[in-house]
Amino acid sequence: MSGIAAATVAQLDKLGIRAWFDLVLHLPSRYEDETRIVALRDARIGTTVQVELDVLGSEVRYRPRRQLIVQAADHGAELTLRFLNFYPSQVKQFVPGARIRVMGELRSSMFGAEMVHPRYRLVRADEPLPETLTPVYPTTQGLSQVALRALVNRAVGTCELHDTLPASVLNALDLGGFGASVRYLHAPPPDADVRALEARTHPAWRRIKFDELLAQQLSMRASYRRRRQRGAPALAARGHLLRKLMASLPFVLTPAQQRALAELRTDLARPYPMQRLLQGDVGSGKTVVAAAAALQAIENDFQVAVMAPTEILAEQHYAKFAAWLAPLGIEVVWLTGGQRKKAREAARARLQSGAAMVAVGTHALIQHDVSFQRLGLAIVDEQHRFGVRERLALGQKSTQELEPHRLMMSATPIPRTLAMSFYADLDVSVIDTLPPGRTPVATKLVAAPRRDEVIARVRAACVGGGQAYWVCPLIEESETLQLKTALATYETIRQTFPDLAVGLVHGRLSSAHKAEVMAAFKQGATQLLVATTVIEVGVDVPNATLMVIENAERMGLAQLHQLRGRVGRGRDASACILMYEPALSDAARSRLKVIFEHGDGFEIARRDLEQRGPGELLGARQSGIPMLRFADLAADVALLEQARTHAQRLLDLEPKLARAHMERWLGSRHDYLKA
Ligand code: ADP
Ligand code: MG
Repeated sequence: MSGIAAATVAQLDKLGIRAWFDLVLHLPSRYEDETRIVALRDARIGTTVQVELDVLGSEVRYRPRRQLIVQAADHGAELTLRFLNFYPSQVKQFVPGARIRVMGELRSSMFGAEMVHPRYRLVRADEPLPETLTPVYPTTQGLSQVALRALVNRAVGTCELHDTLPASVLNALDLGGFGASVRYLHAPPPDADVRALEARTHPAWRRIKFDELLAQQLSMRASYRRRRQRGAPALAARGHLLRKLMASLPFVLTPAQQRALAELRTDLARPYPMQRLLQGDVGSGKTVVAAAAALQAIENDFQVAVMAPTEILAEQHYAKFAAWLAPLGIEVVWLTGGQRKKAREAARARLQSGAAMVAVGTHALIQHDVSFQRLGLAIVDEQHRFGVRERLALGQKSTQELEPHRLMMSATPIPRTLAMSFYADLDVSVIDTLPPGRTPVATKLVAAPRRDEVIARVRAACVGGGQAYWVCPLIEESETLQLKTALATYETIRQTFPDLAVGLVHGRLSSAHKAEVMAAFKQGATQLLVATTVIEVGVDVPNATLMVIENAERMGLAQLHQLRGRVGRGRDASACILMYEPALSDAARSRLKVIFEHGDGFEIARRDLEQRGPGELLGARQSGIPMLRFADLAADVALLEQARTHAQRLLDLEPKLARAHMERWLGSRHDYLKA
């Protein structure tokens, strides 16, 4: 930004403004009306008005504190201006006879009408009034509204504001032109609907929000299309292994699982990389669908990688994949950070030589020393817990030219419309029903002082041959404190239940130790498992029928839902007891109410969206996505859907405009998606 002082550049940078065009999109948060001057004698006490006055005199007083008092008059009516903070230069401005335009709240004091710290300006006698409302911009220390306004004016006057939307789209959606909308927002006429402007519901705002959403959709769709142009092994759906797996399972796939699998099978047979997200609530049975998809790669003699964000989850996947695939003569190896060097070396060699067809593991899978002979399918579970780079790294693990197909999985069941838009760079399959035979989990809210009742229930459940989880209070701020809390809880629980075998699992355990604890619980050697939220994802012990969550009020909806999903996995009736510390905050109360009243993950996600907004709900994904500054995904859903539809059309019919639109809104920021 040439021609601007370095200090100003630094201030603008703080506001995220790095180019002239950024100033065009630095939109006002509110407006002031300086288009009218009210005669002082007509102005009402208590209102904010603009008046024009002649200075009668001024003085600095020191009692009761240092202040500048200015006396001024408008056609005989007098007004006192009072300034508590002021510069010597200001004192000099108020010479008798000077003419000032003043804006402020009119008050009455012992000495008549006054304004405290009004905004004022010295004017000539016949100085014209502004013809538009005065914008007030978000700003930063040291950058005045006057200076910022001047910069914005210059930007709006010099930047190219041509339209990147074809007239047909403007007409179809009843949107104003880009230039006109931007100018309107920076300088609305005096009769503008200020309330709609400030609430950002005004048609001019609608245009800006649409543009922003469209840019996001365009960028994601464009990268989706780009990836389609690459080559992947066409993995024909032969089915001989799949049939064997199906015959060996003690259940049949639900219609929802079959539908999702059919979508995967079609994708895998194509000569370009699949890029699909498999969404399904906790326990909806995504893993078996992923295993079935893996078989299609293996039937074609291609390898499969399965990556999960935590060791516990990876371990569970490994156990399942090995149990399902080993009987079919397929070698599955295990790769994780905590593993012995020798075991890791062996697994690496088996993968590299192509002897092992499946690798299951954590981040360890994407370490530089791991490579596959013929990787055909990369599966990433809980994909939102990985960064964009990590997700992509797994796809680059093949030593051959072709790219592997990609399957992402997520148990954050976001509403379909949001999924379509938020994951516009992916195809989405949804498993929307749970396998049959599950008994819904009964949820109970119990205040912490009634701990004795909870203890009685836990004992009853465990003595009767069942098992239970006891989830420690969540300490988000500190890992050390979290560990302390977990150890303390474990001690208390052991003393409370001397008759039960109690296990403890937390994030700081070594992976070998963690696996040991989980295995003991799975086999029934321990009846009660004290755990931190590390058990949130993936743990699958059907015999566990009771979960107690301490300080449930500290947890988010998604987390509570995921935790609760650890029970209700077998035939017996299950319960989840949410203990809370009274008195609850309003937010905590409404969270607990939602989790108490609803079992369906999609419904809970919808409420979560309402309460917290999509940014937090989708978590890490946000880091890979151009952030929305203006549009609000919860409030502007209709606009979002229109943006999605039109993004497709523009890419097909008006690629040049589409490119110009992305350039304007994202500049270089959509680069990451090119990967
Ligand atoms: P998710 O990963 O979606 O949370 P899982 O794949 O772990 O769910 O499945 C949860 C449990 O349900 C597992 O024990 C799994 O074997 C079982 N399961 C999966 N599909 C079915 C089905 N169609 N019928 C019965 N049980 C199933
Ligand atoms: Mg799972």
